[in-house]
Amino acid sequence: MEIACLDLEGVLVPEIWIEFANKTGIEELKATTRDIPDYDVLMKQRLRLLDEHNLKIQDIQEVIATLKPLDGAREFVDWLRERFQVIILSDTFYEFSQPLMRQLGFPTLFCHRLITDEEGRVVDYKLRQADPKRQSIRALQTIYYRTIAAGDSYNDTTMLAEADAGILFHAPQNVIDEFPQFPAVHTYEDLKKEFIKASNRELSL
Ligand SMILES: [Mg+2]
Repeated sequence: MEIACLDLEGVLVPEIWIEFANKTGIEELKATTRDIPDYDVLMKQRLRLLDEHNLKIQDIQEVIATLKPLDGAREFVDWLRERFQVIILSDTFYEFSQPLMRQLGFPTLFCHRLITDEEGRVVDYKLRQADPKRQSIRALQTIYYRTIAAGDSYNDTTMLAEADAGILFHAPQNVIDEFPQFPAVHTYEDLKKEFIKASNRELSL
């Protein structure tokens, strides 16, 4: 059997922290690992900013509920789920992604968790494990699933390499240039075709 593994942000939904920063007007929340390479330092800053702006998990989810998946994403996920078992492998947090996952019909999601107190204040975060995307692919292989993975960025490349087939979707040119071994496509129609090509079954569009 085959499993399709998809990255979430940049593939099915916009970058959640960036969109959240746009909606709330909190400029400093736009910082990413490009600005602050140490992920723990970056996350601590994000949690401090949420606190300073008195944003509880409920407020955050309300803002995120106004965000929409990328155009065509829901249709693509439905298409894929008819042909593959689908797992989303993401570095987001369940509590953050919930409103967007609802709009995608709640496909299976492996990601991290935010820790909240009784009032809904976000006090900490919990990573599921180190190198989670690659480890998930390896785990699926140990139970004899063939895996086809798609992602848009550097944090997906170990997943794409570990999978039986890897596809770049919506990737920036520098990532495409650096990883020429992966086919790179930019529309859901082309992504469907790549999944069909990578499959060892006779599938049609
Ligand atoms: Mg991404």
